[in-house]
Amino acid sequence: MDTDKIITSIMAKPWANTYSLLKAIGASSAVIDETWRDYRRKYMRSQRWQDVRTKALERSCRACEQCGKRQEDGYKLDVHHLTYIRLGGEQMEDVQVLCYLCHGQMHYRRRVRQDAPE
Ligand SMILES: [Zn+2]
Ligand SMILES: [Zn+2]
Repeated sequence: MDTDKIITSIMAKPWANTYSLLKAIGASSAVIDETWRDYRRKYMRSQRWQDVRTKALERSCRACEQCGKRQEDGYKLDVHHLTYIRLGGEQMEDVQVLCYLCHGQMHYRRRVRQDAPE
């Protein structure tokens, strides 16, 4: 069985689907971790993610959805994932626009792994 080929083809789907397919073919947790890192890296460069980001920034009127700091005042805005469950097939409520200050606090508070996506 060519696991690499299978993994490449299932990476075209949202992460939740990819994850259950990996489970279904009996992939080890090391393979799942590796695929997750790869999936995330590729997804963050995808057109779909760019579109989700743009939509979120428009929704927020380019201001932090937590504290209201505005991009036009020089605050860098990030689009943060409230959940990764639908990564690759996000709903708009899965993401939140945050300034870098609120974003930093959010990850500190939640102790999200350092390599977690935005
Ligand atoms: Zn903020
Ligand atoms: Zn984040």
